[in-house]
Amino acid sequence: MANLTKRDIARLQQRLRERQEELRRYIDGALKEAQTDDAIAAVAPVRDVGDESIAEVAASTNLTMLDREMSELRSIEAALERMREGTYGRCEDCGGEIERERLEAYPTATRCTECERRLERSRSGGVDKSPSL
Ligand SMILES: [Zn+2]
Repeated sequence: MANLTKRDIARLQQRLRERQEELRRYIDGALKEAQTDDAIAAVAPVRDVGDESIAEVAASTNLTMLDREMSELRSIEAALERMREGTYGRCEDCGGEIERERLEAYPTATRCTECERRLERSRSGGVDKSPSL
């Protein structure tokens, strides 16, 4: 299994940033649409705040429809943070390397395939729902 090269990481980073931008625009738009809500109006303008703040703003609202987007955005931010720290691609369970193919398919993955499968099994009570590569 080939290690991730700096170039691989740079490429994945680019993909994550594009997706992050997309999500932020989407969330930003949804928050603006919902600005009849006083709580949201009070923290506007959302556009000028940082990534964490935008997450807090959305979390403090009742925009549960944004849950999926918000959690994806958080995963992306965490992955970008790991890239900055140089811990990207390391399995958080066993400390081993996450397969390159897996990161290509799921750049925000925090576990290697084996650990993810084990986790999925324990969560789903025996049914393996781990996404195939
Ligand atoms: Zn692992």
